[in-house]
Amino acid sequence: MPSIKYVYKIGPGPSSSHTIGPYHAAMNFMQKYKDVDEVKVILYGSLALTGKGHGTDKILLETLCGRKTSIEFNYDLENLPHPNTLDFFGYQNGKLIGKKRYYSIGGGEIEIEGEKRPERKKIYPFNTFDGLKNYMNKHSISDIAQVVDTFEGKIIDEHLNTVFDYMINEIESNLDQTGYLPGNLGVKRVAKDIYTKALNTEDPFEKRILFITAYAYAASEGNAAGSLVVTAPTCGSCGVLPALLYYEHEFRAVDRTQIINALKVAGLLANIIIKNASISGAALGCQAEIGSAASIAGAALAHIHGLSTYQIEYAAELALEHFLGLTCDPVNGYVQIPCIERNGIGALRSLMSYIYAKDISILRKNKVSFDEVVKAMKITGESLSKDYKETAIGGLAKIIRKK
Ligand code: SF4
Repeated sequence: MPSIKYVYKIGPGPSSSHTIGPYHAAMNFMQKYKDVDEVKVILYGSLALTGKGHGTDKILLETLCGRKTSIEFNYDLENLPHPNTLDFFGYQNGKLIGKKRYYSIGGGEIEIEGEKRPERKKIYPFNTFDGLKNYMNKHSISDIAQVVDTFEGKIIDEHLNTVFDYMINEIESNLDQTGYLPGNLGVKRVAKDIYTKALNTEDPFEKRILFITAYAYAASEGNAAGSLVVTAPTCGSCGVLPALLYYEHEFRAVDRTQIINALKVAGLLANIIIKNASISGAALGCQAEIGSAASIAGAALAHIHGLSTYQIEYAAELALEHFLGLTCDPVNGYVQIPCIERNGIGALRSLMSYIYAKDISILRKNKVSFDEVVKAMKITGESLSKDYKETAIGGLAKIIRKK
């Protein structure tokens, strides 16, 4: 597996596959064809069906600015090589001088048709959680974060410190925002109100729930509004992990070193999911986005609280297991309903997974491994109808479509 730095990317919301990926595709096309004065882009599949709500057209227009740009939407879902496909056509003085097909494969990553994806240096000698455990046993290592240090060196701390700064910023800069999110759903920003409720709540359990929810909402509302966010592991699920880490840092005085180590653990688990399944809602449904985010956040929390590797695996497995089959059905294609609430619930699922890992995992050996639940997510997602994979055709998107 490659470095975990590729898991955490900083970019504009609301969707890693629908904004960051197309942004990279546009940049790549412009590097290839510097002289074009006009560009036509055709968006296919999920990019066409949810591209407007996810801001794909907006990010393309911004990135290609200075050139006459037209964007077409092709809604045909049959025979697509990838659910997120884009074609670029570049013209100079009205003459076609270049065309290229791109696939936005999730987490802001792209593939280019006919080009071998530059091989990312594989720095980890394993691809699974079992492989990780074998490595740890063989080398008498008891801390997953230490494995990351071994293969990435201390340089990764620098990147993760920047990542955490951005996570803090995406929460704090959106926590006092009011008004309505872009689009025609009329979704009001409520992170600030939830935060105020948390401050005024006496019950400690409810207080903790409300603070974590306020942070998850702040990041997700910012994402929906197109703010800069960290893919954790995607934009759509960017509120889950930061909400928990921010809470631990602010309220429980967990120091930066512990937070950075937790990001290492979460990043390594995200890497295992990417390698063996996917983190893309268009590929496997929301289980791959919110499910993965809750899973890695549960593991991060378990690490912060000093749980064993077995318990960290339990937390990660449990959080994902109970999101299996979760569909992606963003209403009108906006990353707002159900996405914002889903980030809040995802963060709370991580918290519960950590508590189960701490108190229940020791009572009975877990019969489901992390690797097995990742496999289950893959086969479940592959058998889901396209309606439930970021096309805004099925589920809630079908029932409450707004004009
Ligand atoms: S429903 Fe889930 S996967 Fe789909 S856009 Fe929303 S957060 Fe992303």
